[in-house]
Amino acid sequence: MTASTCPHCKKSTISLKKRYLATKWRTIYCDACSGRICTQPVVLAILSFLYVWDVLLFGTLFFKTYSWVYIVALTVIWLILDYFSMYIPLASMKPLENSKTPQKKTETPEVKEN
Ligand SMILES: [Zn+2]
Repeated sequence: MTASTCPHCKKSTISLKKRYLATKWRTIYCDACSGRICTQPVVLAILSFLYVWDVLLFGTLFFKTYSWVYIVALTVIWLILDYFSMYIPLASMKPLENSKTPQKKTETPEVKEN
């Protein structure tokens, strides 16, 4: 898996690290156009529910049985969910009013209006 495409400017500028942060409900910014990007929130909400289910189910089973198999299962399922979270499509967000983006505002982003 390589860099992902920015939903604003369609350039491959989103690094794997940024992409992973976006799956943890972080807002990320494109390096090229400084557009605000997040992971599709509806899909991410479902995935977050699965993380909670994973911890509750296997955490409970561990404290009932003290069998380390459940901790291993919890970790494996957590990693599988992390893996699939990287394939959730990115969504573009509107720029904030009076935003302080990490990028300088002097750069004019490419505006493509049809
Ligand atoms: Zn961009």
